[in-house]
Amino acid sequence: MEKFFSKSSKEALKKFNVNKNGLSKDQLKNSLEKHGYNELTEKKKKSIFIVFLEQFKDLLVAILIIAGIVSMATGNSESTIVIFAVIIMNAILGTVQNVKAEQSLKSLKALSAPNAKVIRDGFKYEIPSREVVPGDILILEAGDLVVADGRIIESYSLKINESALTGESEAVEKFEEVIKADEVALGDQKNMVFSSSLVTYGRGLILVTGTGMNTELGKIATLMEQTKEKKTPLQITLDDFSKKLALIILVICILVFGLSLYRNTPILDSLMFAVALAVAAIPEALSSIVTIVLALGTQKMAKENAIIKNIKAVEGLGCVSIICSDKTGTLTQNKMTTKQIYTDTSLVESEELNLENEVHASLLNAAILCNDSTNVDGNEIGDPTEVALVNLGHIHSLTEQEVREKYKRLKEIPFDSDRKLMSTLHEINGELIMYTKGAFDVLLNRITHIKTSEGLRKITDADKAKIVDTNRYLSENGLRVLAFTYKVLPEEKELTLEDENDFVFLGLISMIDPPRIESADAVKDCISAGIKPIMITGDHKITASAIAKQIGILKDGDIALEGLELDKLSDEELNEKLDHVSVYARVSPEHKIRIVNAWQNKGKIVAMTGDGVNDAPALKQSDIGIAMGITGTEVSKDAASMILTDDNFATIVKAITNGRNVYANIKNSIKFLLSGNMSGILAVLYASIAALPVPFAPVHLLFINLLTDSLPAIAIGMERSRKDLLKDKPRDSKESILTKDYVKEIAFEGLLIGIFTIIAFHVGLSTGNEHAASTMAFATLCLARLFHGFNCRGKKSIFGLGVFSNKFSWYAFGAGLLFLNLVLFVPPLQNLFEVTPLDGTLIASIYLLAFLPTFIIQIFKIITKDFDKNEAENTANEPLKF
Ligand code: ATP
Repeated sequence: MEKFFSKSSKEALKKFNVNKNGLSKDQLKNSLEKHGYNELTEKKKKSIFIVFLEQFKDLLVAILIIAGIVSMATGNSESTIVIFAVIIMNAILGTVQNVKAEQSLKSLKALSAPNAKVIRDGFKYEIPSREVVPGDILILEAGDLVVADGRIIESYSLKINESALTGESEAVEKFEEVIKADEVALGDQKNMVFSSSLVTYGRGLILVTGTGMNTELGKIATLMEQTKEKKTPLQITLDDFSKKLALIILVICILVFGLSLYRNTPILDSLMFAVALAVAAIPEALSSIVTIVLALGTQKMAKENAIIKNIKAVEGLGCVSIICSDKTGTLTQNKMTTKQIYTDTSLVESEELNLENEVHASLLNAAILCNDSTNVDGNEIGDPTEVALVNLGHIHSLTEQEVREKYKRLKEIPFDSDRKLMSTLHEINGELIMYTKGAFDVLLNRITHIKTSEGLRKITDADKAKIVDTNRYLSENGLRVLAFTYKVLPEEKELTLEDENDFVFLGLISMIDPPRIESADAVKDCISAGIKPIMITGDHKITASAIAKQIGILKDGDIALEGLELDKLSDEELNEKLDHVSVYARVSPEHKIRIVNAWQNKGKIVAMTGDGVNDAPALKQSDIGIAMGITGTEVSKDAASMILTDDNFATIVKAITNGRNVYANIKNSIKFLLSGNMSGILAVLYASIAALPVPFAPVHLLFINLLTDSLPAIAIGMERSRKDLLKDKPRDSKESILTKDYVKEIAFEGLLIGIFTIIAFHVGLSTGNEHAASTMAFATLCLARLFHGFNCRGKKSIFGLGVFSNKFSWYAFGAGLLFLNLVLFVPPLQNLFEVTPLDGTLIASIYLLAFLPTFIIQIFKIITKDFDKNEAENTANEPLKF
């Protein structure tokens, strides 16, 4: 690699034949052809074959293989073929699912991939980072992720955290000057930036010198582990459960085997009992169903503007009981428009500024010069607060380009949300003027003078009182107020924080940022869902409270706290107040961490939004870190577990509803699968204890478990969310999925289906034909479980839920019925699935016996659940669509 640190920025630019206006279209095309996309080639993935082999590692699969071998030994060749076919099919399905999950993870990753700002052909563009090429001019601002390696060509207090590469946690200040040396360690190449580092402060222009594998990160990329899909707590619990289940099955199988032997049943027949039991008990489809339902849930959320970066968040969302939300842009529209302006001792409307008035003209200059935003033909780029100021210029026929060209920026101290100020230095009419704009309360005590049309004079207490009153009046109307000041510097120099003092007051500009229309309703939903919404903002307490009141966050009896007040509280005092504080104003990112911690100590699950560069720690600390897709910095997106593509608070509430629904559906699917398995186990156990023949062949159970059961289980997973899902309280995050009531229901429903299966078996046995009995037991169990799919859709009866409200459950039922009848009536399939042709009466009894458990369960639900108001399950939301 070339050593660009030892070249001047001019030489570096020359090397790529570009200037600060960036690449031309042709150059861009050439560079892309030559260097390719800015991507790291990932470490070689596991081959599909290996993934396929890994599917056999499961203990449950091992039991199936044993079952296959036993079938072979008993000369049951059809059964053996089906069992092995099922094992292989299962492994193929597992492999496909694995590959699909990887792909969906990849596409989610692409959705949350960082963007980069570049200058090309003299214009500023925001592009996906993979499209950055060597020779590009990259604009870096606080909060950006550096997406390529590059040489600095302009730096304004640019500070970069390179810990990802160097391990050094302190940010490094970067400059443009040449480093005259042959070898310089990475951490000391202060005129270079490297891919994967974070801009923590300032601004800079970079010439991209290396992309993709040709970066310092690329060099070590081969060492990088491929990102693994993380499992959710539920998946971990279920994996654990499956393992325990496998062991229990083994023990019971051995007992049953022993019992058969004790009764002098031939060994192979005894083995068949044990095998049937094992196959009946293993919930083969369980983990696939959970993965599928989770994946469907994340897809739905992505369509509704919430991109889940960490699959764990889907479950976590259902437990959220506190949402800490930023105000600007999340609860409000982030469309700032200037309103009243206080300058030259009077309050005027934005349109009434008079540029003939020297004070008015200076205020407008300050608003445009101490500002990084632009609005070219309606294309607004930058912080909406600053765009509003640029637009104020446009009202008065001043364009930012013209003013900024006339009074060039010489030095600056960029805005940061801790300091809440921004300063820039310009030469204006022969004087060196430093403009400072920012939060009024931060500037108030640093103001010594005031400029009026009568000239410059010392500020009086009366002046200050009038300004304070005006600020309060504007804030109480929910307006954001910025104060503007200036000072004259004797000579040009680097600006330091000490310079931000002894100001001359120019004026206050207020701007409106109306609440989003949907915020008030979303807040209402939150509260009824037992979730406390909290506003955390850098804005003024009065402004924040006014907005919070409008949208219902700040209610009677609630309080608003300021960052400074928060600092004065001990942890115990904060803990006492916590429940009543709905608004935190003038906070800095560190306060956010304290607020999250305080709630977490109370055992609450906290969702926290963040957009700034300093928000990353709070996002990481919270249980669900939520970044803003439109206005959020790349750093915040990196730290979050969910990204809102519309920055909207209402989307968080929607995502929570989806999270709760996904969890409820998964729980219902699992209930369906386990209760069905339970009935199979009971039937086999009964036959074993009652010294009857084995009721099922392993193929029967595999057919049910893998085919006819999977379809209703997925359909249950697609159940639409209940209208009143948001009336429930958040789920306790520590609550195990297998609660007492849940297990009771599984046992009751499993027992019912089991009993009717046994009755069917006896009806079959009464014909004197063991095969007919087995066919009866199989068909009844299969059909009863298909009917049972309707029972597991929700707590209410099918009429309460809406008979046709989940069309997938009907498709699943129809398909299952078709498969079963094919097996019962098509001769080659009859052979393969060890089924005997039955006469009409027996078929009719199968249908009746299979329907009865569902009939009883439905009657039970109508009596107990439909009339229980607390459990009301209206279904008004749209079903999942694909
Ligand atoms: P939220 O935290 O809800 O997103 P916010 O935008 O008010 O709200 P910050 O961006 O941290 O939070 O701003 C804090 C304060 O700093 C603002 O209330 C304003 O007074 C001041 N401020 C905001 N933007 C600028 C800016 N570009 N230049 C100078 N001061 C600013």
